[in-house]
Amino acid sequence: MKEDLQVYDNVLQLIGKTPLVQLNKITEGFKGDFYAKVEAFNPGHSSKDRIALYIIEEAERKGILKPGDTIIETTSGNTGFSIAMVSQVKGYECILAVSSKASKDKIDMLRTMGAKVYVCPAHVAADDPRSYYEVAKRLHREIKGSVYINQYFNDLNTEAHYRSTGPEIWNQTEGKITHLIACSGTGGTISGTARYLKEQNPDVNIIGIDAYGSVLKKYHETREFDSEEIYPYRIEGLGKNLIPTATDFDAIDRFVKVTDEESAHTARELAKTEGMFVGYTSGAATQGVKQLAEEGEFDENSKVVIMFPDHGSRYMSKIYSDDWMEEQGFFDTKNEAEVKAIEF
Ligand code: PMP
Repeated sequence: MKEDLQVYDNVLQLIGKTPLVQLNKITEGFKGDFYAKVEAFNPGHSSKDRIALYIIEEAERKGILKPGDTIIETTSGNTGFSIAMVSQVKGYECILAVSSKASKDKIDMLRTMGAKVYVCPAHVAADDPRSYYEVAKRLHREIKGSVYINQYFNDLNTEAHYRSTGPEIWNQTEGKITHLIACSGTGGTISGTARYLKEQNPDVNIIGIDAYGSVLKKYHETREFDSEEIYPYRIEGLGKNLIPTATDFDAIDRFVKVTDEESAHTARELAKTEGMFVGYTSGAATQGVKQLAEEGEFDENSKVVIMFPDHGSRYMSKIYSDDWMEEQGFFDTKNEAEVKAIEF
């Protein structure tokens, strides 16, 4: 950034240094202080900007990426958006294989950002040739000069958070953080941030949020992959049907599972109480905090940081649509009384 002009050279300079915002109402009655790390303030509106920039710049530094090369990734949307954004600014082609679970808004956004998008079925095994992993691997083999980001199995994903998210949270809390609560997908956010925080203070509690239908919690407890744990669920970006090597299970103290329904309601509650319009996993992480508070995890001295990975605008056709909520059976009755009252 040019100091005197207060002008940024491009949007990539705005990545990171996201604010920590105190939660005041949704945590009322809980012991301790609660702060959201609001990653929607990144220019691509999610935490994935950090890893897209870091991994692409590492590949440039190592001479792996050359101008005009193609970057390939599997993604539930956010990582794709961030890679597309970085690719546009830096002049790379971007190909994304996405799960059919991703919202239409997300897919349209990726195409708007110049990415080529392949939509792949969500509920097939990871090694099925139709899965987004296998499609990405095939494209990587077929396209000369392509780089496969492979966020679930790339240590640089974790390193990006070790270098940026961890130090930011440590400094923003002046070293007083006692708990980090983060949803785990690739596990990059929680593991990288945890590694940094534990180096500063090994007593910081690192708690991962997992979905019912995902294998992560059970794997953390038993170090065994249990396919019985796997079944479809709604939350995008949280939990997994495989064990990502980007997750450092030793850096995480425990996992808590949350439901699709409670997470959706808690996300909607964040808008109405804190004025925070954030994504489904921000609701999931806050739901996890509610459950932990009920269990007595926190005390008066607790300083709890909760990762809010992305912005609510990405979920208009899902948790922020009353129709979608009703289709899932998440509403007892539709909010019709309220609607009728204003149709006078
Ligand atoms: N929330 C959302 C919305 C995401 O897209 C992701 C990434 N898949 C996560 C949380 C989890 O972050 P991580 O992959 O770093 O574990």
